[in-house]
Amino acid sequence: MKTNFIDALIEDDQVGLRAAPKVDLHCHAFFSTRRENLERWLGQALEPPPAKMEKLGGMIAYANNVLDRHLRNRETIEFVVEAAVCDAIEDGVVRLEMSIDVRRAAYYADGLAGVERHISALAVQYRRQIDFRPELGIPRQIAADPELMSRAHEAIELGFFQSIDLYDHQEACAPEAVEPLYAKARAAGMKLKAHVGEFGGAEEIRRTVELLELDEVQHGIGAAESVEVMRWLAGNRIRLNVCPTSNVMLDAVPDMAGHPIRLLFDNGVPVTVNSDDPMIFDQSVSDEYRSLYRAGVFSADELDDIRRASLEDVVD
Ligand SMILES: [Zn+2]
Repeated sequence: MKTNFIDALIEDDQVGLRAAPKVDLHCHAFFSTRRENLERWLGQALEPPPAKMEKLGGMIAYANNVLDRHLRNRETIEFVVEAAVCDAIEDGVVRLEMSIDVRRAAYYADGLAGVERHISALAVQYRRQIDFRPELGIPRQIAADPELMSRAHEAIELGFFQSIDLYDHQEACAPEAVEPLYAKARAAGMKLKAHVGEFGGAEEIRRTVELLELDEVQHGIGAAESVEVMRWLAGNRIRLNVCPTSNVMLDAVPDMAGHPIRLLFDNGVPVTVNSDDPMIFDQSVSDEYRSLYRAGVFSADELDDIRRASLEDVVD
């Protein structure tokens, strides 16, 4: 049976695409709203990123040079999150698992309690339009920073965050360094995710999933290098939360048409389509579906299957 989403893809009806319910399971609060919203808030234009950046280092260089200096105050970071929630609602996102970096506590006199107060007020304010599930964001610098590690433990103890994610340079922190933290998050009933395999390394994906008992992997596209690892992910129903434009712009893949999400899908690996950092990559979740369709990666029916599967555990 045809749905409006399929018609909308075929007819390039962007309003129709946005109207279809979808999820965003991989996005980061710090860069979560469109750059144009930040420009309006600041009253100034911001230099756009280059179409191709040199991996994660290239993205961090762009963020340091252009964005970060504007994002170092509480009013602006609070504005960014709220604008992102509104962007997501407008884009038809019905469940938003957005990572809130543990370092955000530094912007509040009462630390993590202030973070919880702000984020939970937003979740309540928009609860009729979106299921906003705060995710605890852990930078990999934590391996070398005991103070950050103790704050992360404290964050889990709050009982407020519903999932956990680990990100930044993969080599900065082996999964072993966060094993106790993840065990605690699991005991607290949180969903466990980590960025791994964004730039290759299929075996490291399997190793990290096994060690940390991950439920889902952020990116994980490096699994496409190994049929065996893909079969393993498929067999264990480990879902990859993929952000196609991010992968192209950070040169993890050469272009959209050749994105390995096709190979992962063909090997039975569960995949979802997500935004990552709209402030940098300038794409909503609907835009990501549209890009995959227009690049010929998937048919409209396949993209609708992916969208529907991502909604499976979302209760209306
Ligand atoms: Zn990410």
